[in-house]
Amino acid sequence: MRHRDDTGDQVTTDAANAIKEYGVGVKCATITPNAARVKEYNLKEQWKSPNGTIRSILDGTVFRKPIIIKNIPPGVRSWKKPIIIGRHAYGDIYKSTEIVVAGPGTAELVFTPSGEGEKRVMKIHDFNGPGVIMGMHNTESSIRSFAQACINNALSEKVDLWFGAKDTISKQYHGFFRDVFAEEVEKAKDALLQAGVRYRYMLIDDAVAQVMKSEGGLLWACMNYDGDVMSDMIASGFGSLGLMTSVLVSPDGKFEFEAAHGTVMRHYYEHLKGNPTSTNSIASIFAWTGALSKRGELDNTPEVVKFAQTVEQVVTETVEQGTMTKDLMLIAEPKVSNYALTEEFIDAVAGRLKKQFSARPA
Ligand code: NAP
Ligand code: MG
Repeated sequence: MRHRDDTGDQVTTDAANAIKEYGVGVKCATITPNAARVKEYNLKEQWKSPNGTIRSILDGTVFRKPIIIKNIPPGVRSWKKPIIIGRHAYGDIYKSTEIVVAGPGTAELVFTPSGEGEKRVMKIHDFNGPGVIMGMHNTESSIRSFAQACINNALSEKVDLWFGAKDTISKQYHGFFRDVFAEEVEKAKDALLQAGVRYRYMLIDDAVAQVMKSEGGLLWACMNYDGDVMSDMIASGFGSLGLMTSVLVSPDGKFEFEAAHGTVMRHYYEHLKGNPTSTNSIASIFAWTGALSKRGELDNTPEVVKFAQTVEQVVTETVEQGTMTKDLMLIAEPKVSNYALTEEFIDAVAGRLKKQFSARPA
């Protein structure tokens, strides 16, 4: 936070450009300052969300993916593999204009072309009394970028891609999303076929029902509002925020890995007071292993990929054998009776990793 303040937030822009140049990045949790943080850190400005800045430079989409561990069962019994959520993060109700109308009158939808063409006017409703109206939009380029990022990530994860909308009701708006998705899938059909990745379009309510019954192992592309709501449902369904990773994927295939949680402020202040904490580092470790794997894949260095997979396996085994932080202890099955402190968990993972490597023939 201090360095962002010292550089006038240039470091965030530099970081995004570095990811553009190198193709892979890792991000730690950052503070998005509110008024209290501005005072606490004596900031020059209430700097914008770094995630927002990086996302707009990379034109990327954020995908959340849970980490599955045998003794941390998801709330939904059928879920066996990760359900990755991709949320379109532009437009719809998040960039809408609304009016509360006081009494009778007519609401219209008007489009005035800046070049050639007729002005278009359509009636929304004749009000007999008070009510409310909303105007919202999306752009073809944003939807296309979103579809491309979803395809890239489904290919990278080798999981099926689902997209749901309500095109039976919203024939134009939701229908537009469906068509743009279908066009992008058609363009990528060889790559999808080769990777064994199938694309399914469904009605959003059908998608919700299918997701609850599925065993997971899929990427669910969601319109903005659906993604906002469903990502929180999926995250809590899988258990702890400490087991949720997040990757930002650009339409041209650049990847930024991070933990989905924030700086875990409450624990940090305990730490500052000198109190022990039990903060789960798994999502942060997986951000690094995800990035290392991707790097190894791009550089064709399988030993790097293997190392990352080994670290992930060691972390998983550590939890499966009963060493875990408090957030996981509360939901573990079978129950465990004590929890590891922040550093104890990391030491346990490091110890296992050392053993793993010293056990390997030279
Ligand atoms: P948070 O850091 O995600 O933590 C919220 C709560 O979730 C914690 O207090 C803790 O619950 C639990 N939790 C989250 N991660 C955990 C972990 N690894 N291990 C154990 N428990 C965990 O959200 P926040 O406290 O609302 O936000 C703190 C700061 O992070 C804010 O400045 C915010 O702007 C920033 N933030 C950044 C990102 C990002 O960079 N991607 C994302 C979200 C928030 P208990 O208190 O019950 O133990
Ligand atoms: Mg939400």
